Amino acid sequence: MYAYDTIRNWPSSTQAEAAAIYAALSISLDDSTITIYTDSQAAVDSLSSCTSSSYSNSRLYYKTTNFELWASIERSIRTKHLMVLPVKVKGHDGNYWNEFADSLANSAHHSDTAPLLPAAAYTSSHNVRLVYDDVICESNPRRLFKLHFQATFLKDLLSLKRFQFVYCLTNKDDYVVDWELTWFALNFSPTHDASFQASHAARHYTFKFKLFLDDLPLLEKLKITRSDLYIDLFTCHSCRNRMEDLMHLILCSRRRSVMHQIFQSYQNHLFSKLHEAGEMADIDPTPMLRKLSSLFCWTISSSNWSSYALIWDCLPTMFIDLFVDLSIPRQSAMKVVAAIHNNFIQKLRKHIWNLRTYDKSKWEDAMNITLKLKTSPRPSNLPATSYVPFSSDSSRDFT
Ligand SMILES: [Zn+2]
Repeated sequence: MYAYDTIRNWPSSTQAEAAAIYAALSISLDDSTITIYTDSQAAVDSLSSCTSSSYSNSRLYYKTTNFELWASIERSIRTKHLMVLPVKVKGHDGNYWNEFADSLANSAHHSDTAPLLPAAAYTSSHNVRLVYDDVICESNPRRLFKLHFQATFLKDLLSLKRFQFVYCLTNKDDYVVDWELTWFALNFSPTHDASFQASHAARHYTFKFKLFLDDLPLLEKLKITRSDLYIDLFTCHSCRNRMEDLMHLILCSRRRSVMHQIFQSYQNHLFSKLHEAGEMADIDPTPMLRKLSSLFCWTISSSNWSSYALIWDCLPTMFIDLFVDLSIPRQSAMKVVAAIHNNFIQKLRKHIWNLRTYDKSKWEDAMNITLKLKTSPRPSNLPATSYVPFSSDSSRDFT
């Protein structure tokens, strides 16, 4: 017996299998015994679960893939008093019916005229049906909601002006931001050793996230929050000739050589790990090393958004791809890159940010801006500032 039906919006083969089983059971007579030959172990397991009414338990139900279909299959078995015997066959191994089903599935897949398996037929098993944009949700709803909200948050984040630079990268093939890697590196905690103790961890995290969110207390920010202490004319306390925004922190002439060294050591770290990976996989890493060193992001300049993105913790897909090309699994590659990047952030804090803060505090001492003054609230009777902070970004064209 075979039924000729197609399913819509279902990209996975497990869904197609469940649908086929459902279709077979729905045309079976009551009280019959049905043997189902399948090459899918998942289908065999799921059919076994049906005998213990797993899908009637709604807590488990939502955790199952294709739960709507499996609940319908279980209901069919129960209401029609069916005896179902799953038999596992080897896939594509010459079993006539299995090959036949496969060819049918392929032809239906490419056919426009095959009828659709009506969603109403298999989604009535539960009184709540999740539909999004006409697509019935059949994956774990908790996971779906989580994904949906994560996507919404990312969209909101990227619509902020401070993240507009990301759109300047889209035409550059060599630097595509890998958001999974970026979040991973942001949440990554470096292992504690002599140079990184537990007490450093809190400061490291704060610095990393403030850098990512462009929320470091740079002069251009302080002019807004503490207009009573920092007047509009103040320039960078290190070089004294530019307004101090995040881009200037990176480009300040007083820190150029240090910045260059930090970038060099970042690159060297990646080099040595790629070498190791090449040795382990017995693959010549030269093409990957060449690709890495030719990346545009290693050159710091005011017009180079990819170096900016790297400092800003928005890491490129390329870093992972190079390791994957050397047979390193993606998860392991993410750990290696995150550790190297966090080491870079530590150096940035120690050799760039701390020095900048030292220069600023010297100046503050001279100006009699004490810690007490800085940490006391801004006088409430002062009028709101109308200062428009200088931004290296806005002087550039984002289109
Ligand atoms: Zn400067």
